[in-house]
Amino acid sequence: MSVPVNIPFLNGNEKKYVNECIETGWISSEGPFVGEFEARYSRYCHRNHGIAVSSGSAALDVAVKALGISSGDEVIMPTFTIISPAFSLIRAAAVPVLVDSELTTWNMNVAEIEDKITARTKAILVVHIYGLPVDMNKIVHLAKKYDLLVIEDAAEMHGQTCHGRPCGSFGDISIFSFYANKNITTGEGGMILCNDDALAERCRKLRNLSFDPALPRFVHHEMGWNYRMTNMQAAMGLAQLEQIDDFIHRKRGMGRYYHDELSFLEESGYLLPKQQTAYADNIYWVFGLVAPSETEKEDLVAYLNKANIGTRPFFWCMHEQPVFASREFYKKTGFRFAERLARCGFYIPSGLGTTREQMGLVVEAIKGFYA
Ligand SMILES: *Cc1c(COP(=O)(O)O)cnc(C)c1O
Repeated sequence: MSVPVNIPFLNGNEKKYVNECIETGWISSEGPFVGEFEARYSRYCHRNHGIAVSSGSAALDVAVKALGISSGDEVIMPTFTIISPAFSLIRAAAVPVLVDSELTTWNMNVAEIEDKITARTKAILVVHIYGLPVDMNKIVHLAKKYDLLVIEDAAEMHGQTCHGRPCGSFGDISIFSFYANKNITTGEGGMILCNDDALAERCRKLRNLSFDPALPRFVHHEMGWNYRMTNMQAAMGLAQLEQIDDFIHRKRGMGRYYHDELSFLEESGYLLPKQQTAYADNIYWVFGLVAPSETEKEDLVAYLNKANIGTRPFFWCMHEQPVFASREFYKKTGFRFAERLARCGFYIPSGLGTTREQMGLVVEAIKGFYA
């Protein structure tokens, strides 16, 4: 039996609502589920506005542009992240200013931010990593002190809170992804959240080729994207959102199980996900392991893959991305914890649809490797 690294969990009203789209013929972004999903998801995250888009990466493009981040603006962000935030900034001709990670939470080291603020700094782009959020109270405090914008990439944080408040409720703009391995999925999809009415209007416009209701149809003042979400995606998202409390409960149970079974690895120098901080309990979007060395990781991963157990490497740092070879941050030093995570980290099967039996096989195989 093989154990894929992710299995989605689509056992609620997904089929019923998607069928409704087909039966009524409402399949484009004009269908009624889109507005309903936006309203419900933004309310769930305590935000006034939700703007559904075609992916989390699309949400970042729109967020950066809508906030007016542009040529030469510096934006402080983690080097250890998915590449999407860096792409969005660089496409807007802004300058990513990178921060190292913490080995405890795997998030950006907030203590390093203040030293990197200059007269050109415009925003802090926070990326919450793998299930534990960044301490947003500290970020919001810094942003106020230095008059900076906050973009919150909460793509891995559906249902997570920070100091008791929903993740995605702290940024001037926050974004989510609904990719198939996220805690709520629409297959592909994303959402932008904000409180400001004008900012929301701007995001809606940018999502829709910058069509402007004040201009004649097909006359445009600025560039935009077609980043709209279909009614079928929103239908699925709505059905998923109905189950979010159960999903988070499940994920925390999976995390506890893996912790109980795999904590012996810590004696061999492994890092396991931190279970909690003063401001949040881990929701284990994925269950990661950080091996004591790169070769040890490679050996264990090869062993697991031979046993048909899926794994995924951790993110690769922004300052080591070949695509950024011409950027001033390329090959910069001072990111040793992020580099350790990128080189030695990987995650094991931990999707919402992964069964206890499958998790048992993963644990057995890891124990087998160390026996
Ligand atoms: C998944 C993810 C994204 C990108 O979302 P897509 O929908 O795949 O474009 C962005 N940021 C983070 C932190 C993610 O995990």
